[in-house]
Amino acid sequence: MYSTLDTTVSSLRGQVALVTGASRGIGLETARQLGRLGISVITAARDLAKAELIANELRSEGSSAIPLKLDVTRKDDREATYAYLAERYGRLDILINNAGVWLETDNAAQRVPNQTSSLSLGLLHQIFEVNFFSVVGLTQTLLPLIHKASSARIVNLSSTMGSLALQADPSYPYYSHKIFGYSASKTALNSFTIHLAQELRETRIKVNSVHPGWVRTDMGGADADLDVAEAAQIVVNFATLPDDGPTGGFYFGNQKVPW
Ligand code: NAP
Repeated sequence: MYSTLDTTVSSLRGQVALVTGASRGIGLETARQLGRLGISVITAARDLAKAELIANELRSEGSSAIPLKLDVTRKDDREATYAYLAERYGRLDILINNAGVWLETDNAAQRVPNQTSSLSLGLLHQIFEVNFFSVVGLTQTLLPLIHKASSARIVNLSSTMGSLALQADPSYPYYSHKIFGYSASKTALNSFTIHLAQELRETRIKVNSVHPGWVRTDMGGADADLDVAEAAQIVVNFATLPDDGPTGGFYFGNQKVPW
């Protein structure tokens, strides 16, 4: 069982966490829950007004929340994020790579025929830009600050739809729900998790891919299984793993997800 129960809340107090895509959905709720643990949360959103709105909301609940403009696809925003964190904190303890897009249907609940053979390369690029390249770019940019934390955690928001084993398994409940661009982008993200965790294995930085469940958000749709609070708790558990917790894994709750 990997849970914040294993990590004393006092050791989390004063830590600094950056949550991308904190404007709504799982990102917003993850920022809220991290704030409740006494962690200073950077509510990063591509629209600064939204980031400020959320930071104000979390501050009114007693959290330390700081808004930041971050369109993850923009190199200048990623570099400005590094400069801001370096100047203000000199380190980053927790990076939640949450921002993501689902562009092939209205939301994850909508069933459409498999369109792999006709998916436009333009759309595929757009999906990979947010779900994969930006995660790699932001993480690489911030790694010098993450190395400066005494113990750091990187959580990559993945999906069971990115599991190659499940995509190929006819008994997987979503086997017939083939959304190629999104799934492939999360498969690539999982590869990043594996490779980065292996490179950092001798450090105190843990890197994991986490499936938050099928969640009632704009992306998940109204009929999804989990509410955002349940999903964010799963993310927060991996953001606050104890030092003997896992790295380089793919999890849903306490369960390992096959790659
Ligand atoms: P959501 O409600 O659609 O929210 C997506 C978030 O990503 C929004 O805050 C959005 O910001 C942000 N975003 C998109 N493009 C961005 C960019 N270029 N720069 C910065 N932020 C950007 O999605 P969600 O359901 O909360 O999903 C969050 C993560 O969990 C995603 O990575 C998703 O793939 C993953 N996930 C979700 C489910 C599910 O069932 N919901 C299942 C498995 C995995 P704006 O408000 O500015 O658009």
